[in-house]
Amino acid sequence: MRAFFAARAALWNSWAPALRAACPELDLAREGDPAGFDAVIYAPGFPKDGRAMDFAPFTRARLVQSLWAGVERIAPNPTLIQPLCRMVDPGLAQGMVEYCAGWTLRAHLGMDRFAQDGLWRNDCPPPLAAQRRVSVLGMGELGGAVADALAALGFRVTGWSASGRPRPGIEVLGGPDLHRALGRADILVTLLPDTPATRDLLDADRLALLPQGAWIINPGRGTLIVEDDLLAALNSGRLSHAVLDVFRTEPLPPAHPFWSHPQITVTPHVAAETRPASAAPVVAENLRRAMAGRPLLHQVDRARGY
Ligand code: NAP
Repeated sequence: MRAFFAARAALWNSWAPALRAACPELDLAREGDPAGFDAVIYAPGFPKDGRAMDFAPFTRARLVQSLWAGVERIAPNPTLIQPLCRMVDPGLAQGMVEYCAGWTLRAHLGMDRFAQDGLWRNDCPPPLAAQRRVSVLGMGELGGAVADALAALGFRVTGWSASGRPRPGIEVLGGPDLHRALGRADILVTLLPDTPATRDLLDADRLALLPQGAWIINPGRGTLIVEDDLLAALNSGRLSHAVLDVFRTEPLPPAHPFWSHPQITVTPHVAAETRPASAAPVVAENLRRAMAGRPLLHQVDRARGY
């Protein structure tokens, strides 16, 4: 089977050996007649001239496999006629669990209060996790894993998703109950995809539903939050802090007010990375399924955008 590697050249050295090891029958290439490929393995940033990828010439391809979990950049691509699958990988989920648990604990324990400033601050011991409510918006592969991990630490976790699909041990609210999920969020974790339905979800009205002094941790997508409304909520003291990993423009421009805001922590889209060692077997399985005409794993519903 032949697959075209549609990703930045810098990714080739780490991905090609992992993909070939996971799928010895794979003939992986970076050039050649598009009509001769059975599949396209895609990562954002390709082609590097900034144009959208043209999938139309890949007339024989049975699969476009994204190496990223978020597919907002290709799901609307009108040239994409092949089935599109997104990345679901145990390494990605573990990375996201660690990122969210780490920042949730920072917020919960008030770690920032203990900066070395010569003051003996023993007047305000942190509460236990059981006294802290965390809401997770988006209860998919990543949000679900994060919710489970935070519940295992003892936090009172509420999930929210479009369907409200139940998850053992977690109360999951459905679409119309967003206000309830927000009202319970001493700490809000947002792990929603970027779709027309989630864009600008957290505007001034919705941010006002969060408890006084809430934290926001957003490793989902920058488009979920209206930036000016977030700044206003932080500046007014309604919200305590925001940890932001994803932005409307990436890299975040040097002059952007988020960089210097004392109540914002910027991380540079590093919350969770697709790691070739754990992700290549997932790609290999989908390539084999595509060739055998079997149902694909993690196929994107392009009408919903995720
Ligand atoms: P997923 O499995 O597709 O889950 C998406 C979740 O969002 C589902 O629970 C879905 O609800 C919910 N959802 C979608 N649209 C909604 C809406 N309009 N209202 C309410 N809920 C909605 O995705 P995932 O693998 O967990 O990834 C989530 C996102 O994380 C990705 O799309 C990407 O943007 C981001 N991400 C970030 C990083 C990083 O490093 N910062 C890394 C990887 C991924 P249903 O369950 O009802 O369908």
